[in-house]
Amino acid sequence: MFNPSLITGTHINYYTTCKREAWLYSRKIHADQWDENILMGKALSDIKEEQLHQFPFSNLKFDKIGKQRGHYLVTEYKKSMKNPKAAKMQLLFYMYQLKTSLKLKEINGKVISGKKVIYVEGNEENFSLIEALIEEVADFLDSPKPPSFILNNFCKSCGYREYCL
Ligand code: SF4
Repeated sequence: MFNPSLITGTHINYYTTCKREAWLYSRKIHADQWDENILMGKALSDIKEEQLHQFPFSNLKFDKIGKQRGHYLVTEYKKSMKNPKAAKMQLLFYMYQLKTSLKLKEINGKVISGKKVIYVEGNEENFSLIEALIEEVADFLDSPKPPSFILNNFCKSCGYREYCL
């Protein structure tokens, strides 16, 4: 089985967006580095490095952690919110890792993209959801072959287009 401890927020985000993308990424097949979306992502990442307090913890790399009314709050900035569910699950993954590793009592999160903000509550239901998803992703990534290409709504802006279209 794919080692669950190697799963990152990016695996979770890609899996929720397109399983084929997650598999390609897991095999260190890199997306087209000159793709406009990848370049924008890199530019945002450079700005984040300069302006934000990044908090590297184990294999986690999110943008900010702070305290709000006595509870921890993780913040993640995105260049776009093309898939809100993927953004939510990625953030939930970070929250879950922090909660279990640091034995935090309460942790919540938010994803910000321009004027859009998604709040993610650190409740039992959400943590059960991410636990099940981590297991599902580890199981899926164990497969020796990627799933076949199926055109979806994200293909147009995907950096892996050349491997599929
Ligand atoms: S081009 Fe489409 S099918 Fe291929 S990895 Fe990207 S989103 Fe998935």
